[in-house]
Amino acid sequence: MTSQPDMADRRQDLLDTIRDTARDAGRDPSDITLVAVSKRQSEARLDAALAAGQRVFGENRVQEAQSHWESRRADHPDLELRLIGPLQTNKAADAVALFDVIETLDRDKLARALRKAMDESGRTPRLYVQVNTGDEPQKAGIAPADLPDFLASIRSDYGFEIEGLMCIPPVEEPAGLHFALLAKLARENDVPRLSMGMSADFETAIRLGATSVRVGTGFFGPRED
Ligand SMILES: *Cc1c(COP(=O)(O)O)cnc(C)c1O
Repeated sequence: MTSQPDMADRRQDLLDTIRDTARDAGRDPSDITLVAVSKRQSEARLDAALAAGQRVFGENRVQEAQSHWESRRADHPDLELRLIGPLQTNKAADAVALFDVIETLDRDKLARALRKAMDESGRTPRLYVQVNTGDEPQKAGIAPADLPDFLASIRSDYGFEIEGLMCIPPVEEPAGLHFALLAKLARENDVPRLSMGMSADFETAIRLGATSVRVGTGFFGPRED
Protein backbone atom coordinates (compact mmCIF):
# COMPACT_ATOMS: atom_id res chain seq x y z
CA MET A 1 0.00 0.00 0.00
CA THR A 2 1.19 3.46 -0.83
CA SER A 3 1.48 5.75 2.15
CA GLN A 4 0.24 9.31 2.05
CA PRO A 5 3.64 11.05 2.08
CA ASP A 6 4.67 9.04 -1.02
CA MET A 7 1.52 10.07 -2.83
CA ALA A 8 1.93 13.70 -1.81
CA ASP A 9 5.58 13.68 -2.96
CA ARG A 10 4.75 12.09 -6.28
CA ARG A 11 1.96 14.58 -6.86
CA GLN A 12 4.22 17.50 -6.01
CA ASP A 13 6.89 16.17 -8.39
CA LEU A 14 4.30 16.02 -11.16
CA LEU A 15 3.08 19.54 -10.43
CA ASP A 16 6.70 20.79 -10.45
CA THR A 17 7.39 19.09 -13.77
CA ILE A 18 4.19 20.51 -15.25
CA ARG A 19 5.15 24.00 -14.07
CA ASP A 20 8.74 23.79 -15.37
CA THR A 21 7.70 22.34 -18.71
CA ALA A 22 5.04 25.00 -19.16
CA ARG A 23 7.49 27.81 -18.36
CA ASP A 24 10.11 26.38 -20.74
CA ALA A 25 7.46 26.40 -23.44
CA GLY A 26 6.51 29.99 -22.66
CA ARG A 27 3.16 28.97 -21.24
CA ASP A 28 1.29 29.89 -18.06
CA PRO A 29 1.47 26.84 -15.72
CA SER A 30 -1.90 27.72 -14.22
CA ASP A 31 -3.45 26.98 -17.61
CA ILE A 32 -2.68 23.26 -17.22
CA THR A 33 -4.76 20.89 -15.08
CA LEU A 34 -3.37 17.66 -13.66
CA VAL A 35 -6.05 14.98 -14.02
CA ALA A 36 -5.25 11.98 -11.80
CA VAL A 37 -6.55 8.88 -13.59
CA SER A 38 -7.91 6.68 -10.80
CA LYS A 39 -9.25 3.68 -12.74
CA ARG A 40 -8.33 0.34 -11.13
CA GLN A 41 -6.69 1.98 -8.12
CA SER A 42 -7.32 0.91 -4.53
CA GLU A 43 -9.63 2.71 -2.11
CA ALA A 44 -6.58 3.51 0.05
CA ARG A 45 -4.85 5.24 -2.84
CA LEU A 46 -7.97 7.27 -3.69
CA ASP A 47 -8.08 8.49 -0.11
CA ALA A 48 -4.35 9.22 -0.11
CA ALA A 49 -4.77 11.30 -3.28
CA LEU A 50 -7.55 13.32 -1.65
CA ALA A 51 -5.43 13.77 1.48
CA ALA A 52 -2.59 15.04 -0.71
CA GLY A 53 -4.91 17.71 -2.06
CA GLN A 54 -5.76 16.25 -5.47
CA ARG A 55 -9.30 17.14 -6.59
CA VAL A 56 -9.46 16.42 -10.34
CA PHE A 57 -9.82 12.75 -11.28
CA GLY A 58 -10.31 10.83 -14.52
CA GLU A 59 -12.16 7.53 -14.84
CA ASN A 60 -12.84 5.42 -17.90
CA ARG A 61 -15.93 3.49 -16.75
CA VAL A 62 -19.16 4.94 -15.40
CA GLN A 63 -19.87 2.15 -12.94
CA GLU A 64 -16.38 2.06 -11.46
CA ALA A 65 -16.43 5.85 -11.17
CA GLN A 66 -19.70 5.68 -9.22
CA SER A 67 -18.23 3.21 -6.75
CA HIS A 68 -15.04 5.26 -6.42
CA TRP A 69 -16.53 8.70 -6.04
CA GLU A 70 -20.25 8.87 -5.25
CA SER A 71 -19.79 8.60 -1.49
CA ARG A 72 -16.47 10.50 -1.39
CA ARG A 73 -18.11 13.42 -3.14
CA ALA A 74 -20.22 14.12 -0.05
CA ASP A 75 -17.05 14.97 1.90
CA HIS A 76 -15.37 16.72 -1.02
CA PRO A 77 -17.88 18.90 -2.85
CA ASP A 78 -14.98 20.49 -4.76
CA LEU A 79 -14.17 17.26 -6.63
CA GLU A 80 -14.02 17.45 -10.42
CA LEU A 81 -14.68 14.12 -12.14
CA ARG A 82 -13.84 13.57 -15.79
CA LEU A 83 -15.01 10.70 -17.97
CA ILE A 84 -12.14 9.72 -20.27
CA GLY A 85 -13.38 6.33 -21.53
CA PRO A 86 -16.01 5.34 -24.09
CA LEU A 87 -19.63 6.06 -23.17
CA GLN A 88 -22.60 3.93 -24.23
CA THR A 89 -25.82 5.82 -24.87
CA ASN A 90 -27.66 3.77 -22.24
CA LYS A 91 -25.23 5.12 -19.62
CA ALA A 92 -25.58 8.75 -20.68
CA ALA A 93 -27.93 9.67 -17.82
CA ASP A 94 -25.63 8.08 -15.21
CA ALA A 95 -22.64 9.88 -16.72
CA VAL A 96 -24.41 13.25 -16.72
CA ALA A 97 -25.42 12.68 -13.08
CA LEU A 98 -21.86 11.97 -11.92
CA PHE A 99 -19.30 13.67 -14.15
CA ASP A 100 -18.34 17.33 -14.37
CA VAL A 101 -16.58 16.82 -17.68
CA ILE A 102 -17.26 14.23 -20.40
CA GLU A 103 -14.25 13.98 -22.70
CA THR A 104 -15.37 11.23 -25.06
CA LEU A 105 -18.23 12.63 -27.12
CA ASP A 106 -17.70 11.07 -30.54
CA ARG A 107 -21.03 10.47 -32.31
CA ASP A 108 -24.37 12.05 -32.97
CA LYS A 109 -26.37 9.36 -31.18
CA LEU A 110 -24.40 10.00 -27.99
CA ALA A 111 -24.79 13.77 -28.37
CA ARG A 112 -28.55 13.29 -28.58
CA ALA A 113 -28.58 11.05 -25.48
CA LEU A 114 -26.47 13.55 -23.53
CA ARG A 115 -28.73 16.46 -24.53
CA LYS A 116 -31.76 14.52 -23.29
CA ALA A 117 -30.06 13.56 -20.02
CA MET A 118 -28.97 17.17 -19.45
CA ASP A 119 -32.46 18.51 -20.12
CA GLU A 120 -34.01 15.98 -17.74
CA SER A 121 -31.46 16.43 -14.93
CA GLY A 122 -30.60 20.10 -15.25
CA ARG A 123 -26.92 19.13 -14.97
CA THR A 124 -24.62 20.34 -17.74
CA PRO A 125 -21.21 18.67 -17.71
CA ARG A 126 -18.55 20.37 -19.85
CA LEU A 127 -17.94 18.50 -23.09
CA TYR A 128 -14.88 17.45 -25.08
CA VAL A 129 -14.94 15.72 -28.45
CA GLN A 130 -12.63 12.72 -28.77
CA VAL A 131 -10.66 12.72 -32.02
CA ASN A 132 -9.21 9.53 -33.52
CA THR A 133 -6.06 11.31 -34.66
CA GLY A 134 -4.49 8.10 -35.99
CA ASP A 135 -7.62 7.05 -37.95
CA GLU A 136 -7.37 3.69 -36.19
CA PRO A 137 -10.33 1.45 -37.10
CA GLN A 138 -10.64 -0.09 -33.61
CA LYS A 139 -10.37 3.20 -31.73
CA ALA A 140 -13.16 5.51 -30.60
CA GLY A 141 -13.25 9.12 -31.74
CA ILE A 142 -14.25 11.26 -34.68
CA ALA A 143 -11.93 11.07 -37.69
CA PRO A 144 -10.03 14.35 -38.16
CA ALA A 145 -11.63 14.83 -41.59
CA ASP A 146 -15.12 14.58 -40.09
CA LEU A 147 -14.48 16.91 -37.15
CA PRO A 148 -15.60 20.25 -38.68
CA ASP A 149 -19.00 18.88 -39.75
CA PHE A 150 -19.50 17.03 -36.47
CA LEU A 151 -18.75 20.14 -34.41
CA ALA A 152 -21.03 22.28 -36.57
CA SER A 153 -23.91 19.84 -36.24
CA ILE A 154 -23.69 19.27 -32.47
CA ARG A 155 -23.29 22.99 -31.91
CA SER A 156 -26.40 23.79 -33.92
CA ASP A 157 -28.59 20.72 -33.28
CA TYR A 158 -27.98 20.44 -29.53
CA GLY A 159 -26.68 23.88 -28.59
CA PHE A 160 -23.49 22.37 -27.16
CA GLU A 161 -20.50 24.55 -26.42
CA ILE A 162 -17.52 22.28 -26.86
CA GLU A 163 -14.82 23.06 -24.32
CA GLY A 164 -12.07 20.91 -25.75
CA LEU A 165 -10.70 18.12 -27.91
CA MET A 166 -9.22 14.90 -26.54
CA CYS A 167 -7.03 12.23 -28.13
CA ILE A 168 -5.29 8.95 -27.36
CA PRO A 169 -2.42 8.55 -29.87
CA PRO A 170 -1.63 5.18 -31.47
CA VAL A 171 0.85 3.34 -29.25
CA GLU A 172 3.38 2.66 -32.00
CA GLU A 173 3.71 6.24 -33.25
CA PRO A 174 5.42 9.33 -31.81
CA ALA A 175 2.74 10.95 -29.67
CA GLY A 176 3.93 14.44 -30.56
CA LEU A 177 2.64 14.15 -34.12
CA HIS A 178 -0.85 13.44 -32.78
CA PHE A 179 -0.71 16.17 -30.15
CA ALA A 180 0.32 18.68 -32.83
CA LEU A 181 -2.55 17.54 -35.05
CA LEU A 182 -5.06 17.85 -32.20
CA ALA A 183 -3.80 21.37 -31.42
CA LYS A 184 -4.15 22.36 -35.07
CA LEU A 185 -7.70 20.97 -35.24
CA ALA A 186 -8.63 22.89 -32.09
CA ARG A 187 -7.30 26.16 -33.55
CA GLU A 188 -9.07 25.64 -36.87
CA ASN A 189 -12.37 24.84 -35.19
CA ASP A 190 -12.36 27.40 -32.36
CA VAL A 191 -12.16 24.86 -29.56
CA PRO A 192 -10.33 26.36 -26.56
CA ARG A 193 -8.93 23.40 -24.61
CA LEU A 194 -6.89 20.25 -25.21
CA SER A 195 -6.90 17.02 -23.16
CA MET A 196 -3.78 15.15 -24.23
CA GLY A 197 -0.78 13.43 -22.69
CA MET A 198 -0.52 10.55 -20.21
CA SER A 199 2.21 9.38 -17.80
CA ALA A 200 4.72 8.63 -20.56
CA ASP A 201 4.27 11.72 -22.70
CA PHE A 202 2.60 14.53 -20.77
CA GLU A 203 5.61 16.83 -21.08
CA THR A 204 5.49 16.57 -24.88
CA ALA A 205 1.77 17.27 -24.70
CA ILE A 206 2.33 20.41 -22.62
CA ARG A 207 4.91 21.71 -25.11
CA LEU A 208 2.31 21.24 -27.83
CA GLY A 209 -0.51 23.00 -26.00
CA ALA A 210 -2.23 20.55 -23.62
CA THR A 211 -4.47 22.28 -21.09
CA SER A 212 -5.07 19.07 -19.16
CA VAL A 213 -2.89 15.97 -18.84
CA ARG A 214 -4.27 12.57 -17.79
CA VAL A 215 -1.75 10.86 -15.52
CA GLY A 216 -2.59 7.44 -14.05
CA THR A 217 0.35 5.22 -13.11
CA GLY A 218 2.68 8.22 -12.83
CA PHE A 219 0.43 9.59 -10.09
CA PHE A 220 -0.86 6.50 -8.28
CA GLY A 221 1.61 3.76 -9.17
CA PRO A 222 0.73 0.53 -11.05
CA ARG A 223 -2.94 -0.39 -11.51
CA GLU A 224 -4.62 -3.48 -10.07
CA ASP A 225 -5.78 -6.08 -12.61
C1 LIG B 1 -5.71 4.93 -18.35
C2 LIG B 1 -5.76 6.18 -19.14
C3 LIG B 1 -4.84 7.22 -18.92
C4 LIG B 1 -3.70 7.12 -17.91
O1 LIG B 1 -2.69 6.31 -18.41
P1 LIG B 1 -1.26 6.22 -17.66
O2 LIG B 1 -0.36 5.67 -18.67
O3 LIG B 1 -1.46 5.32 -16.48
O4 LIG B 1 -0.90 7.59 -17.24
C5 LIG B 1 -4.99 8.38 -19.65
N1 LIG B 1 -5.97 8.52 -20.57
C6 LIG B 1 -6.86 7.55 -20.81
C7 LIG B 1 -7.92 7.77 -21.83
C8 LIG B 1 -6.80 6.35 -20.10
O5 LIG B 1 -7.70 5.37 -20.36
